[in-house]
Amino acid sequence: MRALRVFAGPLRYVQGPGALDQLGGLVAAYGPRPVVVTDPFVRDLLGERVEGVLRGAGLRPEIRVLPGEITAAAADEIAASVAEVGAGLVIGLGGGKALDAGKAVSLRLGVPVVTVPTVASNDSPTSKAVAMYDAGHRMVSVDQLSANPHAVVVDTALIAAAPVDFLRAGVGDAVSKTFEAAACAAGTGVTTLGTRPLRIGAAIAAAAYATLRAHAVPGLSACARGEVTPDLEALVEAVVLLSGMGFENGGLSLAHSLTRGLMQARGASSALHGQHVAWATLVQRVAEYAPDDEVAELRGFLREVGLPVTLPGLGMDAPTADEIRGIARVTMTAPHLANLARPVTEGDLVAAILEVEGAP
Ligand SMILES: [Zn+2]
Repeated sequence: MRALRVFAGPLRYVQGPGALDQLGGLVAAYGPRPVVVTDPFVRDLLGERVEGVLRGAGLRPEIRVLPGEITAAAADEIAASVAEVGAGLVIGLGGGKALDAGKAVSLRLGVPVVTVPTVASNDSPTSKAVAMYDAGHRMVSVDQLSANPHAVVVDTALIAAAPVDFLRAGVGDAVSKTFEAAACAAGTGVTTLGTRPLRIGAAIAAAAYATLRAHAVPGLSACARGEVTPDLEALVEAVVLLSGMGFENGGLSLAHSLTRGLMQARGASSALHGQHVAWATLVQRVAEYAPDDEVAELRGFLREVGLPVTLPGLGMDAPTADEIRGIARVTMTAPHLANLARPVTEGDLVAAILEVEGAP
């Protein structure tokens, strides 16, 4: 049924300083025994506070800690350990791994999830996607929940207190979305919802980009000072909500396909996802023959915010021709690669990467 088009998003999005204190009221309707899944660092930082907020709403939470990588076995183990609780909801609390663990446990228990990100390094808090890894930090699958999180609670006081490099990476993850949605719409691409995009996806992705361009620099400065300002609020909304709804409803394309190649690339594999996407956005723009001045202007913006614009900037010093071809080869296996106005070949990708690497 190619004529069907689908829109999806979180049921509720709450953002602002002190948003964490609203968590009890937001989740009380899901029953008295929520399960909180977090990581060791955030458990020490916020565990008592979150437990207090939930108990204040008359709830009796179970807290579980993801010890390391988010693997299927780790999610199975946490889900089994709370099987007798009768939880009506899972709360994912922390960074990317903890949120994915919360999502993965909710999938196994068959209950909704609420996400509470403590950093804004990418847009996964709003999405129904779950990135699963093996114990060696290789991504093995992207599982899909049947619905987006029932609430996303973004306490900007926590985001501002976290290291600014996380939010900077979030800018990188968000910057691609308007170009990826446009490419998906221009060709025959489908979104992660499995249908051609409605117009709303590209509209949201464009709003994400416009917000980044207006607020990323002052918003990152505010984060570096540990201050919540209107610029920081705008930036966080772009990185978490607009970027997330933009990609899920607008579609991913070449930029996110390239992250698959980068995750296996020497040196670059340990960079943050948003840093990968920043560089990959330049490659996508070159590969789709964007005007040189537009590519240069985008490169200038990425430099201004401190995101990588070359492979050495991602940690891959002096990439060889073989290594560049290797990135292109792995990228060609990504399903989002079909979401382009014109198909690209491995050779096209190599040429685009070399052009980005050779730019002044
Ligand atoms: Zn992403």
